[in-house]
Amino acid sequence: MEFADTPTESAWRNEVRTFLKNEYTGMGEDGSVEGGLFDRGERMKEWRCRVVKKGWVAPAWPKEYGGAGLGVKEQFIMNEEFAEAGAPQVGGFGVMMFGPTLIVHGTEEQKKEHLAGILNGETLWCQGWSEPGAGSDVASLQTRAVRDGDDYVLNGQKIWTTGAQHADWMYMLARTDPDAPKHRGISYLMVDMKAPGVSVRPLTTMAGSQTFNEVFFENVRVPVRNRLGEENRGWYIGTTTLDFERSSIGSAVGIRKTLEGYLKYAAAFPSHVTFSTRPQLRLEFADRWIEAQVAKFLSYRVVTMQARGEIPNYESSMTKLYASELGQRISALGMHMLGLGGQLLARKGPHARMGGRMGPGYLGAVSATIAGGTSEIQRNIIAQRGLGLPRD
Ligand SMILES: Cc1cc2nc3c(=O)[nH]c(=O)nc-3n(C[C@H](O)[C@H](O)[C@H](O)COP(=O)(O)OP(=O)(O)OC[C@H]3O[C@@H](n4cnc5c(N)ncnc54)[C@H](O)[C@@H]3O)c2cc1C
Repeated sequence: MEFADTPTESAWRNEVRTFLKNEYTGMGEDGSVEGGLFDRGERMKEWRCRVVKKGWVAPAWPKEYGGAGLGVKEQFIMNEEFAEAGAPQVGGFGVMMFGPTLIVHGTEEQKKEHLAGILNGETLWCQGWSEPGAGSDVASLQTRAVRDGDDYVLNGQKIWTTGAQHADWMYMLARTDPDAPKHRGISYLMVDMKAPGVSVRPLTTMAGSQTFNEVFFENVRVPVRNRLGEENRGWYIGTTTLDFERSSIGSAVGIRKTLEGYLKYAAAFPSHVTFSTRPQLRLEFADRWIEAQVAKFLSYRVVTMQARGEIPNYESSMTKLYASELGQRISALGMHMLGLGGQLLARKGPHARMGGRMGPGYLGAVSATIAGGTSEIQRNIIAQRGLGLPRD
């Protein structure tokens, strides 16, 4: 990897920095974004408008579809700078997952109906893959879509659906041929979340937030024209991606910034955090700081491969596994720093510690090693594809 930017990359980095400096004014008091990608609040709306106007909502999409048409290295620099500025990405599932699939497999009519709404942030999409009996092994899904004239009739249940309570549409996989081998009897459908028979039940995480949901389908009629690609080919369609950079550099930068935040807090509130009298805490902090650098270099490895036209495989699993587990160790460090005070939820007042964010953050970090493929699944990939170990 060449660590220094080329002159062209450096000019691009400056352009992104200048944009962020002039246009990004922060989100909340504490920099947090309510509801993340599904946030419809005024500040998020304003920020989204600025990114839309600049044409940077979908960095990887081809220009002919309203994307920025950036190469992986340019996307990497953009993602790195957004993370450095603490500026949230605005695209969500629509830009990252559904849009690319629609561009490759959609009919002209389907593209016309949906792409513009994704780009301008008017329509929010959620992802209906997981079911109570199908998570790591999604192909075991049981939600049924039975053809009836020009519609499919949908019955079944999805679970852990992030943002379903805010979403306008869901892209999802349903079983259309129960007799075929499991990967070959699945179709890819677009479901209007306001259609009769769709109901959403929010789930509360142990951190107290309602980010994901159960979604039930009871005789929901989905027009056949809302199927993407051929019937029973949905599994293969669901794996389509565009040339997104997959380095997770945003999370590597975020990890380092969290540690910097801890340092700033310790300096500002020496009575809450005393590094001087707790050598063990200093060592713990130093270990996490080194690991944050490792996370960054793992990200660099992935983007270097992509920039060379190679497709990262177990290397992305290493990045995901390492960053998500490190995130948990860093939350644990935060709790060690604050002691019992870290559990307090008070945002302000004499007993408040770090705006009451540490406890929920610590609990929230647990989900990172489950979402997007569990640590065990990542380890399987690394063992089999990276180390060449046998399957059983
Ligand atoms: C915060 C969050 C957001 C999510 N958002 C969405 C979303 O928007 N849409 C969506 O469709 N899903 C979403 N999910 C679901 C997520 O994709 C699944 O939780 C994940 O794939 C694991 O599936 P599962 O929960 O069914 O666990 P299981 O697959 O049942 O796994 C249970 C345990 O068994 C282990 N295990 C399973 N298979 C193997 C194996 N072959 N080898 C070794 N160990 C194994 C797992 O690692 C785990 O520890 C979200 C999950 C979280 C936590």
